[in-house]
Amino acid sequence: MSSSVERVLIVGAGLAGLRTAEELRRGGYAGQLTLLGDENRAPYDRPPLSKQYMRGDTDDTALRPAEFYPEHDIRLRLGVAATGVDTAARQVHLSDGTDLGYDALVIATGLRPRRIPGLPDVSGVHVLRSHADAAALREHLGNARRAVIVGAGFIGCELAASFRAGGLDVTIVEPQPTPLFAALGAEIGALVARLHEAEGVTVRCGVGMESLVTEGDSVSGVRLADGSVLDADLVVIGIGSLPVTAWLEDSGIPLAERADGGGVLTDRTGQTSVPGVWAVGDVAAWPHATGRNKRVEHWTNAGEQAQILAAALLGIDQAAEVQVPYVWSDQYDMKIQVLGLPALADEIVVVEDKGRKFLAHYRRAGELVAVVGASMVGKVMKARAELAANLQQHANIG
Ligand code: FAD
Repeated sequence: MSSSVERVLIVGAGLAGLRTAEELRRGGYAGQLTLLGDENRAPYDRPPLSKQYMRGDTDDTALRPAEFYPEHDIRLRLGVAATGVDTAARQVHLSDGTDLGYDALVIATGLRPRRIPGLPDVSGVHVLRSHADAAALREHLGNARRAVIVGAGFIGCELAASFRAGGLDVTIVEPQPTPLFAALGAEIGALVARLHEAEGVTVRCGVGMESLVTEGDSVSGVRLADGSVLDADLVVIGIGSLPVTAWLEDSGIPLAERADGGGVLTDRTGQTSVPGVWAVGDVAAWPHATGRNKRVEHWTNAGEQAQILAAALLGIDQAAEVQVPYVWSDQYDMKIQVLGLPALADEIVVVEDKGRKFLAHYRRAGELVAVVGASMVGKVMKARAELAANLQQHANIG
C-alpha cells in the first residue's frame, strides 16, 4: 500500500462494503476506516429477505454483531448518503451538508430496484431490495390473499415460494418465454416453471404487465398486455435492479454504458482510472470472462472482490486466479445452484431430470462453462476444478 493511504472511506454499508473493511483490517491496515451507509441499519444480509425473513422464520439478518465495529475500529456512519465526489480534492459530499476526506475511496453502493414509470402510487404494490422493503412486504402479507409477482427472476421465484408457504394464491407474470430465462435459458427455465406449477403457482410467461387496476387507494389487480386482468391484493414488481451511480455522474469516475448494465468501470483489482478510487460488489463493473466489463449481482462475488480489492489496495501480491462465479437460490425445499458462466454457453444439456432434482451442463464449443443443479449440491460442486480450468482458458483467449 502506498504509505500515503491513512484514510479509507467506503461508501455503501452493505455486504461488499463490510467485507472490504474486514479484509483491510485482516490485511493489516491500521489507518482510519469509515463505512458510510444511507440506511439506518448496520450491514445486513439480503438473501434471507426473500426467503427465511419473508416466511417469518427469522428476524436476524445482521452480518456482524454491534460490537464488531468498535472492536475492529471501523467507524460506522449510518443514515447519511454520499451525494457527490470531488476527486481532485479527495472529498465526498454528504447529504447532511458536510464533506468527508479520503486517501482511498471504495464505492460499494449496490443496486436499487427498477421501477415501472407512471404506476399509480397505491398501497399493496411493493419492490424488494432493502430490509425496509422486506419489512413492509412482510407486514402486508398478513392481510393478503392473492399475489401477483411481476418478473420471474431469482427474487420473483423465491418470493413465489415464500408466499405459497404463507398460503397465498400466487401468479407470476413474465414477458420472457420462461422463468429465469435471461440467467439460465429456456431449458432450465421450463424445469423451474414446472416446479412452481407443482406447488400451485400460476406461471404466465410470454406476456407482460400493462397496468395496475386500483380500487380507491389500493391495488386490486394487474392488467396484462393480452387484455386479461388478474385479481390481486398484493403486487410485487421484480423486474431487476440498476446500479446506484447517480451520485457519481459529475465526478469524472468512469461508468459503464447503460446498455452494458452500467456500474463503475474498474480493472481486475477493482481500481478505477481515477487515482485513489475503487469499486466493489453489485455496483462495480469489473473485467469479466465474457471479455467485457460487467457487473455481477451475487453474494459470493461481493466477498471475492472485496478480498482482491483489499489486497491490491494494501499492495499485497496475490496469485491471479480465475474466480468461478457461484450463485444459489432457495425455492421451496430446493437449492438451485449455478456454478460458472451460463452466458458463455452455446449448448445446454439437461443431464439428469428427476422432477424436483435436475442437473444441466452448459457448454461452449464442447467445453463445460457452467453447471446448474437443483438439489444436486455434490454434483454441482464437483465440477469446480474443470470449470476453473475452462474459464481460465477462455479468459486467456478472450
Ligand atoms: P448492497 O447489498 O445493495 O449494499 C449497498 C449499500 O449501499 C446499501 O445499503 C445502500 O443503501 C447503500 N447506498 C447506496 N447509495 C448510497 C449512497 N449514495 N450513500 C451511502 N450509502 C449508499 N445473491 C445470491 O448469490 N444468492 C441469493 O440467494 C440472493 N438472494 C437475494 C435476495 C434479495 C432479496 C436481494 C435483494 C439480493 C439477493 N442476492 C442473492 C444478491 C446479494 O444480496 C447481493 O449480491 C449483495 O447484497 C451485494 O452487496 P453490495 O454490498 O454490493 O450491495
